[in-house]
Amino acid sequence: MATLSFRDARQCVIETVRPAAGIEEVRLEDACGRVLAEPILADRDYPATARSLRDGFAVRSEDTPGRLRVTGEVAAGAVFAGNVKRGEAVEIMTGAPVPHSADAVVMVEHTKRDGEFVSVPAAKAGQFVNPQGSEARAGAQLLPPGSRLGYAEIAMLAAVGKTSVHVYKQPRVAVLATGDEIVEISDQPLAHQVRNSNAYSLAAQVRTAGGIAEILPVARDTEASTRALIEQGLAFDLLLISGGVSAGKHDLVERVLAGLGAEFFFDRVLIQPGQPLVFGRARGTFFFGLPGNPASTMVTFELFARAGIELLGGRREVRLPFALARLAAPFRHKPGLTRFLPARLSDDGSEVTPEPWHGSSDIPAMARANALLVAEAERESWEAGDLIRVLIK
Ligand code: AMP
Ligand code: MG
Repeated sequence: MATLSFRDARQCVIETVRPAAGIEEVRLEDACGRVLAEPILADRDYPATARSLRDGFAVRSEDTPGRLRVTGEVAAGAVFAGNVKRGEAVEIMTGAPVPHSADAVVMVEHTKRDGEFVSVPAAKAGQFVNPQGSEARAGAQLLPPGSRLGYAEIAMLAAVGKTSVHVYKQPRVAVLATGDEIVEISDQPLAHQVRNSNAYSLAAQVRTAGGIAEILPVARDTEASTRALIEQGLAFDLLLISGGVSAGKHDLVERVLAGLGAEFFFDRVLIQPGQPLVFGRARGTFFFGLPGNPASTMVTFELFARAGIELLGGRREVRLPFALARLAAPFRHKPGLTRFLPARLSDDGSEVTPEPWHGSSDIPAMARANALLVAEAERESWEAGDLIRVLIK
């Protein structure tokens, strides 16, 4: 069995997981958050004709500075039929096509109008003109397959006239909690029991990663129960298991998976929370065995399972939302593990404060946090004001 560093374990997931088959067509209105399964090409030049970037006057730069005769007007949505001849200018609005023979626009604020004449300052050729095809040439690829469709990608699809688009089908992800101590969230737990919060946090994380989650019944700490439910989960595109992967006597998940012929890529990662962490494949389905403590489950999902779902869902590139911030107070940890600890990032993202927390079961600290502080495995201490990496939540 393999123990990997944070970086190597993440690389392993990224190199192993490939899109699960399946493409469907959706209306553009329903495409936000989906993953593109076709290339998007420019249907024409962008912009399709040279356009003015300012309200002002279209001029020939060689005539400036000077006093020019205003021979017409062109608004956005209109076309100026004639030419701008020597000594002439045409009044122009932002977004309007720049008449051919003109090569610059002067801002109206920099001019002085006097009847049919206007005095303009010196203008450089190309000034305030957005040339035809400067953003993209007709036929150029604007978005490659595998792009996640956020608002700017939706704008691009709308601009090229895609009323519907081919996207990857969303991966179906089984969520399986394990443990004799776990009760339904609608139940009143006894002192030695806990509600099944992991199934719900995982389902929420699956959804934001672009998957469709299905929560399976809780597996009890017997081989028969664990096997039956893992077999159900292996019928999905991905199986997420919470709990049962530590070294305890009742941690049966790895043994049961091995009995089902699983291939294991790693089963321990040098991180905290979340050291025991299993990634493998059985019956053609990838699975993650995430440690059951709630903070461990949430953090290991973010670090590894999210990338798995994104890649299954057709993404070609995945990236963790890391940033750098200054520590509000000194910080130290025991080197050897990369730690991901709940923290508060200031509104402007410049300063980070670790949240007081009581270990991997501390859901309140995770819920208060808006980021995770990333303490590198190789370094022991940081001073107040030092830059440190954070993972934005
Ligand atoms: P395990 O990884 O199975 O050893 O579980 C470690 C601890 O995590 C357990 O003692 C529980 O307190 C907690 N835990 C396990 N599964 C869940 C779950 N589905 N929801 C909430 N807490 C859990
Ligand atoms: Mg357990």
